Amino acid sequence: MELEIIEQRENFVKFVLSGITPTFANTLRRLIMSDVPTMAIDEVIIIENTTPLYDEIVAHRLGLLPLKTDLDNYVLPTECECGGQGCTSCEVSLTLEVSGEKDIEIVYSNSLLSQDPKITPVFPNIPILKMAKNQKIFLEAIARLGRGIDHAKWQPISTVSYKYYPVVKFNEKKCTYCEECVNVCPRDIIKIENGKISAQNVINCSLCNQCVDICESDAVFVTTTGTDFIFTIESTGALSSKGILLKALKILNGKADEFKVYVEEF
Ligand code: SF4
Ligand code: SF4
Ligand SMILES: [Zn+2]
Repeated sequence: MELEIIEQRENFVKFVLSGITPTFANTLRRLIMSDVPTMAIDEVIIIENTTPLYDEIVAHRLGLLPLKTDLDNYVLPTECECGGQGCTSCEVSLTLEVSGEKDIEIVYSNSLLSQDPKITPVFPNIPILKMAKNQKIFLEAIARLGRGIDHAKWQPISTVSYKYYPVVKFNEKKCTYCEECVNVCPRDIIKIENGKISAQNVINCSLCNQCVDICESDAVFVTTTGTDFIFTIESTGALSSKGILLKALKILNGKADEFKVYVEEF
């Protein structure tokens, strides 16, 4: 197995994982999507709401705000020593109290005040609701760790995807250098230079097969290695993309260890 990082930013990583099976690639994708926990608002106690938005809609919107997550200091309520009753190890309280002072007041995510400065909305400028002058919202929101398998609000990613590593080849004996494939390729992969045809930046090939379809000489072939995969992980910002990957692998190890214990007890 080999890992090559192609592109990395704070909330984004693109890498090639070589020498694996499609099953392993999909396991990794599903673990990231469904099992890596993040913090999200799970309960809202409305104390006062004179805005035009129903309590349920406000609560739903709050649940979808990505929150910075600290996996070292919090545990899932189901795994907490308090038995899920709620304590400082498994939940955080945030309060929101805003009164309309302008004709149209927009309440943004940075108005949520957290009991723990490490658990705050990832972005300060997400609009939550609009209100008119003298209207008011006052509530307490309880954030808990959860997993995407239970609700999409706990998914740590906006996207996680993989594709097979493309291979684009030519039969130069059959090629007439008509340039049809060059012109049809939407990703600018195929080049004809100095009487030679070649594929460049094949990692960007979308495997659309348009070059194959247009070639009347059967001189272009598009296939995949079958064992190399290009992964893209875009985090919501709740965790870093590297943190998501490390946590997914830790969960996979944990599952293998658990399985091993069962096998040993056969
Ligand atoms: S379309 Fe076929 S024949 Fe024409 S340049 Fe491409 S590979 Fe060669
Ligand atoms: S499969 Fe599509 S993207 Fe890839 S080289 Fe052919 S035309 Fe371009
Ligand atoms: Zn607890």
